[in-house]
Amino acid sequence: MKILCLGNNTKDTDIKTCNLAKTNLSKCHGLLSELDGPSLTITQDGWYHSSVYDIEYSRLVELATEFNSVIMLNQPKEQYSHPDAFYKTVKLVENLPNGKFLNPSYTTDINFFENLVKTNKSFCIFPFIELLTNQRTDGYTTVCCRSSTPVAHISEIKNWAKNKDYSIIRNKMLNGELLPEHCASCYTLENRNILSAREQETVEWANRLNLTSLNDLTEITHPAYYEIRPSNVCNLQCRMCGPTSSHLIGQEYKKINLISTIPSKEQSDFSIVDFTNLKKLYVAGGEPTAMPEFYKFLDLCIQNKKTDFEFLINTNATKFSNRFKKQLKQFSNLQFIISLEGVGSLNHYIRWPSDWNTITENMHYLRKHNHIITTNTTVSIYNVTNLYNLLKFFDNEFPGMLVHCLPCTSKDDMLSGFNFPNSKLALERLLPIQQLKCYKNNRLLKSFIDGIITHYQTTLSVDLTQLKLFFEFNDKLDLSRNVKLADYIPELEQARKLIL
Ligand code: SF4
Repeated sequence: MKILCLGNNTKDTDIKTCNLAKTNLSKCHGLLSELDGPSLTITQDGWYHSSVYDIEYSRLVELATEFNSVIMLNQPKEQYSHPDAFYKTVKLVENLPNGKFLNPSYTTDINFFENLVKTNKSFCIFPFIELLTNQRTDGYTTVCCRSSTPVAHISEIKNWAKNKDYSIIRNKMLNGELLPEHCASCYTLENRNILSAREQETVEWANRLNLTSLNDLTEITHPAYYEIRPSNVCNLQCRMCGPTSSHLIGQEYKKINLISTIPSKEQSDFSIVDFTNLKKLYVAGGEPTAMPEFYKFLDLCIQNKKTDFEFLINTNATKFSNRFKKQLKQFSNLQFIISLEGVGSLNHYIRWPSDWNTITENMHYLRKHNHIITTNTTVSIYNVTNLYNLLKFFDNEFPGMLVHCLPCTSKDDMLSGFNFPNSKLALERLLPIQQLKCYKNNRLLKSFIDGIITHYQTTLSVDLTQLKLFFEFNDKLDLSRNVKLADYIPELEQARKLIL
């Protein structure tokens, strides 16, 4: 018999596995890890152990076929370095035909919210755990960053847990009443059979906060998750962004008559963050590293010795000063979400006028200093045919990094990644992604890529009205920036003939 035990990445996993081997009068062969090489084969009977830290997800799934049983050890979630690693292990073992649990309650606890989001298509955890400011709503909060429909004015929220506007939304969700005015972005993905944030993040957050029933929700008195966007100050002018997220785009749009008034810069400050129940703080912009108030907040955290919470910084990674690098050294739980849309000059064109070498050097700097980096790519008409190159670059240069893709939303959907005018070419370029490790190891990315592939397999037509709007808009930007689409994305330029 060959048995593989999965657990956390501490000595305890080795001890527990060897004890089990002894009890079963068998031999313990110890740890299996990526360091054993790609052609790892299991020849001898006995007990082995590994973890999601030691071997990546898709490789563990393959490896599991060489064992009679794969057992998840009964180590409590708190003994994992992050609850997400515990969750990943549970889901992996649950989906294996030969998977077993020493503690079966691990699955029942997680499955409550997993089943709830399947049976109640309205329920989402964010209004129950999150408070955020949103650059698009002028001082009003929204249910999450994906929505631009106001919920309540931030200055009027005295008791977030009992706030009447939030209560209305929470009750509707609990009753299964759909909220398209707030949650259309998730519903749209679900209608395309793509896993939404509602489905995925509800389960992840319930696991992180140890929520196993609806009753647990009523005990949340303070937000566990804050998202702060201090202002729209930004050093870039990304093509799929807008004036409420980049003051430079505001100035440019005004100059080329795309808007008549420039939105104000000030949006919110960090004073709404209450550390009482804080599990995670997410800061975005604009560009946080371009904002003086962001540096002040980091100094304040350092002064008050609040430096160990889960701190996510969304950045374009183009502007890391020495002061910033010095501040980072004080924080123990930092994660960076780096926005990237293409490799090299394509990124420069879309995330105008960023410099690719600076970004990749900064990403390496963060990794070298043991900060977690993940990437976020907005999939649009600009990059859908070049997504493979970007994801392949991630696989090669930053192995194991978590990669997110999200669909581009824009006025009249003119930048939609689902409207590339040549389905055959889009498919040719998208299908190889299914061979990449980042695709195989991340079910959210997999779901997104499969959804967009299915779209191009089943939809051969193109929305010419959207395409015309795209060219009109993009030509104005190109003229303003003195560049040409043909020099960066020739396959898209070729589609111009369709609207002439
Ligand atoms: S359903 Fe989607 S849009 Fe609505 S709150 Fe949840 S994550 Fe946000």
